[in-house]
Amino acid sequence: MIHPEHQRRAYLQAMGIDVWLPRDEAEDVPLPAETPADERGMDWETLADCVAKCTRCSLSQTRTNTVFGVGNRQADWLIIGEAPGAEEDRRGEPFVGRAGKLLDEMLRSLGQSRDSVFIANILKCRPPNNRDPKADEAAACRGYLRRQIELVQPRIILAVGRIAAQTLLESSEPVGRMRGRPHEIEGIPLVVTYHPAYLLRSPSQKKKSWQDLCLAAKLVAESPV
Ligand code: URA
Repeated sequence: MIHPEHQRRAYLQAMGIDVWLPRDEAEDVPLPAETPADERGMDWETLADCVAKCTRCSLSQTRTNTVFGVGNRQADWLIIGEAPGAEEDRRGEPFVGRAGKLLDEMLRSLGQSRDSVFIANILKCRPPNNRDPKADEAAACRGYLRRQIELVQPRIILAVGRIAAQTLLESSEPVGRMRGRPHEIEGIPLVVTYHPAYLLRSPSQKKKSWQDLCLAAKLVAESPV
């Protein structure tokens, strides 16, 4: 059971808000040993370890494995999806189901592979029954992804699907309106495209997704090395 005060502090921390406590309350609720004080400044190994032990939200109680992310830690391309599904939760690796196979094909069409790019998700743990991530879960996980972006320093971020795009861009626009044009976060160009799971259901949209990949490739080509 996560102490509600721990959870409140973790959310505030994940949102980058400093928690000030009256001196006489500061010692009342000690943070559990596995709660990272702050992921800012962490190296890859420490960050991966923190994610593996994370109890910032209730998904830690239902996951099989955390899904940290895979690939080249100095990649030009950072691919960000939504959250692990059943297969990813079982194997601890992102995009290994049917949608993952299509993502692999999309990467191949760009001359990339899952070893040359880095692949991560908004959430590191699977939401039960593949429901959408809740705002508090995304907030609790945000610092991990933010640190991954800082460490990779990609030349392009490809946000695949509505949840990734809306969370990263703090927008409620549908993917259809966000795709097809360049965005930017933390000074890094970002392109939105359809989630491969959606493309499996709606193959007629693959052409638009290809246009998005071409836009992303163009932004990489134009960006300083
Ligand atoms: N869908 C995602 O968004 N991420 C995964 O890792 C798997 C499926």
